[in-house]
Parts: sequence; structure tokens; C-alpha cells
Amino acid sequence: MDSRTKDLPAHLEIRLATRLFYGVSCLAAFCLLLFFAFKICQSTQVGWMSLLGIPLGMICVDFLSGMIHWGADTWGSESMPILGKRLLHPFRVHHVNPADFLNRRFIDTNGDVAFLTIPGLVTALFLRIESPVSAFVAIFIAAFCGVGLMTNQIHQWAHMRTPPMPIRLLQQTGLILSHEQHEMHHRPPHVDNYCITTGWCNRPLQAISFFSRLEKIITRITGLQPRYDETAFTDALSDKETSK
Ligand SMILES: [Zn+2]
Ligand SMILES: [Zn+2]
Repeated sequence: MDSRTKDLPAHLEIRLATRLFYGVSCLAAFCLLLFFAFKICQSTQVGWMSLLGIPLGMICVDFLSGMIHWGADTWGSESMPILGKRLLHPFRVHHVNPADFLNRRFIDTNGDVAFLTIPGLVTALFLRIESPVSAFVAIFIAAFCGVGLMTNQIHQWAHMRTPPMPIRLLQQTGLILSHEQHEMHHRPPHVDNYCITTGWCNRPLQAISFFSRLEKIITRITGLQPRYDETAFTDALSDKETSK
């Protein structure tokens, strides 16, 4: 860690009880996903058409990752209860100190998302795969939850200069977000390339100025200014730096 990074804000350390909770959440989510995948593999209804659920699920979860990331970067205050501390603060820290993300361990990185996928996976286990349509729905849910479960992990891999070889291959084939593509989000003012799973939605969303148009609509309706909290966060940081 260089001296510049040392002075920057860092991710809040989680308590042992929270780490245990996240550990159980990760274990439960991965087991549920495996059970669900096993159930799909046993079905005789799975055909080529139902396999289209895989790319569709991956596109939808990539879009959702972009919406959540954009929402956390753009709106709300890090002083808000629960969401402020667990979602908004990490994103504020992440823009000013991206390298800190690499210090987060697997459970701390993935626990939140794992916990959120559990209800969806439990519900999915009750799905009866008795027709090609239900097989398509099941595969869509499995791809959506499976890739969604890995969102933060994929994001962390995209920050590594030399990720493990299998991950680098997945990045190079475009199946998951690459370092090069995500780096574009980390150029100030951090207003595009929000999608952080496959990254497939980034180009089309940028082509239609999706997020900037949405911001204009929200500002018109609510009067809120985008990134007002992030601006306050970075201003407070520069004030601290200059007063040293
Ligand atoms: Zn961001
Ligand atoms: Zn990042």
C-alpha cells in the first residue's frame, strides 16, 4: 500500500457476527443454486429453446447490476440507515480508492448479494419444470441468480491487473466484465459503464444515453441533483487534504 492509498478512505471492517452471517449466506446460496441446477438437469423438458434463458438471464442481471450501481452512485446519502452504510458508503469509497476493493475477502465481498439471492432461489426450487416454457423460466432464473450471485466477485476480478488464468479467459471471451471495460467507469465523473456482471448492457445503454436521460427525468420530477452526496463526500475529502 503506497502512502497516497494509505490516506484514502477504506472499506469498513465487518464484525465477526456479520462475517459469520455472510459466510452462512454464501454457503446457503451456492448450495441452493446447485440443487436448482441439479433439478433442471433432471428435467426432460429442457431443449435448445429453453437454453435461451441463459443469455437472457445474463442480460437481465447485467442490466439490474447497472441500475443498482447507478442508483447507489447517483442518489441517496451515505448517512441513510442500513443502505447508506452497506451500499452507498462502499460505492463512495470505491470511486476514490478503487484499490481498496481488492483487500476485501470473499465472504465480505459476496455476502450481501448471496443473502439477497436466497429468497429467489428458495422460491425457484418449488417451480415445477413440466413444459418447455417452465424449463425456459427455470434456466432463466438459474442464470439470473447464478451470475447475480457472482456480481461483486466479477467486479472485484475486473479490478485485478492479473486475475487467475480461467477468469482472464472468461474476461477475454466477453462472458464477464473485463478490466479494460470497467476501467472506463473509474474515469471521473463516473457516469457510464455502470453494468458490472457481463458488461453486455454498457454499450447499448450508453448509445441511447439511458442513465443521463433517466437522471434528467428524476431531477425534473423530484428536484434532486444527481451525485449530490458523492460531490459532498469528495469535497469533504479534498478539504481534509488541504487542511493538512
Ligand atoms: Zn461507480
Ligand atoms: Zn469498480
